[in-house]
Amino acid sequence: MSELNQILADLRTACEDPAARLRHYLSQGKKVVGCFPPYTPEELVHASGMIPIGLWGGHTELKRSKSYLPPFACPIMQANMEFGLGGSYQGLSAVIIPALCDTLRCMTQNWRFGVRDIPMIPIVYPQNRTSPASVDYLVSEYETVLTMLYTITGQMMNEKALCAAIDIYNEHNAAMRSFDRTANDHLDIITPQVRHTIHKSAFFYEKSEHTAILRAIVRELEQLPVCQWRGKKVLLAGIMCEPEEVLDILAENGIAVVADDLAQESRQYRTDTPVTGGGGLKRLAIQWNSRRGCSMIHELDKPRGKMMLQMCRETGAQGVISCMMKFCDPEEYDQPFYETELRKAGYPCLSIDIDQQNTSFEQIRTRLQTFGEML
Ligand code: SF4
Repeated sequence: MSELNQILADLRTACEDPAARLRHYLSQGKKVVGCFPPYTPEELVHASGMIPIGLWGGHTELKRSKSYLPPFACPIMQANMEFGLGGSYQGLSAVIIPALCDTLRCMTQNWRFGVRDIPMIPIVYPQNRTSPASVDYLVSEYETVLTMLYTITGQMMNEKALCAAIDIYNEHNAAMRSFDRTANDHLDIITPQVRHTIHKSAFFYEKSEHTAILRAIVRELEQLPVCQWRGKKVLLAGIMCEPEEVLDILAENGIAVVADDLAQESRQYRTDTPVTGGGGLKRLAIQWNSRRGCSMIHELDKPRGKMMLQMCRETGAQGVISCMMKFCDPEEYDQPFYETELRKAGYPCLSIDIDQQNTSFEQIRTRLQTFGEML
């Protein structure tokens, strides 16, 4: 248990001070690339011999970003812009921005002109994924990213390194899923905040390092008695559930998180890259085409509701909390579809506003407390 406590404390430190993780890798002589959310092709960075680090915003006072972004840009991008303009990302060799929504598309241009000392590498994912041309197109996008990474390292990534990186990322996906399953037998220890910390910390570690940490956590948990959880259980949906105070309010009200559909958490780890089907770049493109149930990916059949229903049934979640990122159009468009299906099947839903800059939680506290009592 003391080893588990130490691991959890280390991961919490990493989430609270990602800049320390950046300094850690820089001190080892490694180059680090910032990866905007979500689905940045980290495997290409890894295979190019660099460390990808996630840039998921954070709490900061928004000042300079207001000259670049309208007030209705989502808080994650406002914060990333502020951090970039304020020098918090100094040390990064580049950032990669996947242009998956209107705000991210604007970010590519704002970053290019606002943060001139950190090169920006854009990537555009195909949304018509049923067309065979989508694979060829995405491979060409990956090749462009690799060419730009080459200008940083002076060395072109090779196929062997890419295949090794894909294996490392697939192993990490499996380790995350294994942790999620084990965590549900230990809801006394894996509180909503601890669960979030373990997921989020993945963005600040080289992935094989993080896989080793996850395996150690699972080993430690398996040695402990299974917890007969007497509180309520929920599924979290949305982009992310921050600030952490929201998660603490869940815990205060005896509500455990047993599953999630968060872009920052489980959505990242659902879809492995196939082990066959062509070279590494083609397999990564096939992985993109296989992703399901994400607000940023065009899908005619809107499967999120059904996917969440299945997750609720498998994990015993009694209700769903939509963590609605302020001004996030893609999530707002999806929400009515999945909530209708969930409600029809008897699962209560609650929507709360998510803003990383929020400092007042009394309204959310009241709503979460009431929701918990309804379950
Ligand atoms: S998908 Fe939503 S949260 Fe993500 S960058 Fe776009 S608007 Fe922001």
